[in-house]
Amino acid sequence: MESRNPTNAWHTSDEGFRRLIEQVKDHAIFQIDLQGRPTTWNEGVRRILGFTEREFVGCEVTPLIFTPEDVHANVPQKELDYATRHGSASDDRWLCRKDRSRFFASGFTTALHDSTGKLIGFFKVIRDLTDMKRTEQALRESEERLRLILESATDYAIITTNTAGKILTWNFGAQQIFGYSAEEAVGHHARVLYTPEDRASQCDEIERETVLREGRAVTECWQQRKDGSRFWASGVTHRIPDHQTGAILKILRDWTEQKLSKEKLEHTVEDRTARLRETVGELESFSYSVAHDMRAPLRAMQGFAIMLQEELGNGLSPPAQDYLRRITNSANRLDLLVQDVLNYSRVARSDLPRVPISLAQIIAEVIESSPNLQPPKADINIDGEIPMICGNHAALTQVVANILSNGVKFVSPGVHPRIRIRVEDVPEIEDGKPSVKVWFEDNGIGISAEAQQRMFQMFQRLNPASRYEGTGIGLAIVRKAVERMGGSVGVESEPGKGSRFSIQLHRAVTT
Ligand code: ADP
Repeated sequence: MESRNPTNAWHTSDEGFRRLIEQVKDHAIFQIDLQGRPTTWNEGVRRILGFTEREFVGCEVTPLIFTPEDVHANVPQKELDYATRHGSASDDRWLCRKDRSRFFASGFTTALHDSTGKLIGFFKVIRDLTDMKRTEQALRESEERLRLILESATDYAIITTNTAGKILTWNFGAQQIFGYSAEEAVGHHARVLYTPEDRASQCDEIERETVLREGRAVTECWQQRKDGSRFWASGVTHRIPDHQTGAILKILRDWTEQKLSKEKLEHTVEDRTARLRETVGELESFSYSVAHDMRAPLRAMQGFAIMLQEELGNGLSPPAQDYLRRITNSANRLDLLVQDVLNYSRVARSDLPRVPISLAQIIAEVIESSPNLQPPKADINIDGEIPMICGNHAALTQVVANILSNGVKFVSPGVHPRIRIRVEDVPEIEDGKPSVKVWFEDNGIGISAEAQQRMFQMFQRLNPASRYEGTGIGLAIVRKAVERMGGSVGVESEPGKGSRFSIQLHRAVTT
């Protein structure tokens, strides 16, 4: 505890008030005599200036409190002179602590007079404003940074309005984009920035209401410049949170070029797609008619070959008989190919109206119509019940026939073909419709992973033609038909371990 300097005498008769001043910590409060020497001290002097009572009272401290520059400019005396003349003086300036560090202070000096009116000294109050000053400085700097950002964003119109739509601020970018100077825009209603049609339908008000309600709105619309021309504006509008008066910030850019080139691109793509569709359609009908027209001469070849065989069969030399057999075989193969191409065209081109259908019944019909799919040649079993599905009868018959005939065809020599058909329920897929997956599992030769990738394409035959007959179109028909019925196909297999083909289709909706 420090001893009280006996000269410490406050010019107040109120003891309670005197004690109160001594205890004040956040203000340095003291009196000085006419020579500028402190005659009193309080706790705030220690806190703010760093002097103990002993170091302070009666000492030559004035030159230590003021900065050397202010001492040099005679500021301490000028302040006292001013207070003497006007009764008091107040000033905000940098001061020094005992350790010579500086702080920004708010100072107040009052002249003290005795009962006869004679000047006897001064009463001083000093408050440390460093934190406030720092906050102010940081605020100023951040405002300056913000101003620089706003000014340098020349490609962006950054505008604030009040909640009624009156323009409050207008940056250089806004001037560039809309053509109005800040003087012309600020204070006016933002409605002028909209096209007459949008103004008539109160688009600006609707946008403001959305922003005030939801905090944010996206702007994608035509806006109007000062000269009446239009540009496509793209941007966002935000409600500025915690703004006392309520304000709206709008950030826009001129996106006309991008919009027009996007539209142009879309038109080009649309045009090309339409042309491509037309060409594909023409090609399809061309190939269909070619395939169709080829069947008549083919049938003639087959028919005349049979007639030749019947009329001259035994009279022909063995080489001639071989030629005849080859002609018949080739004609038959070509006929098969033409039929498959026609089947593919039909599945790809014709309408496939879908109705609730029993897949189990279609499977039974296909098996019944083909001896190759029946015992003793093959065994085909259905596990469980297949639910009604939504499909096209003709297309599904083709799909089932192709998968089953492949299943019994592609087996190793000496292996008795077996196919197991089972159903898997699938959760609702992307389109939200309940579906069912039907698996056809065979005990055939299997398929390599690489071949699985391309086997659903046209004319893909993965085994030597000498060993397994075919056209390479069957699975292409399967995929096309299933996809056109809104489903999908799949395969899982390993060479030597059989194959599992799946078709996934929508379940029939039962009411
Ligand atoms: P293909 O007329 O040759 O049967 P597909 O389009 O039906 O034509 O089948 C394409 C190829 O996929 C076949 O040539 C065969 O190599 C292979 N493949 C199809 N189904 C099976 C199967 N169940 N097991 C093994 N390989 C198969």
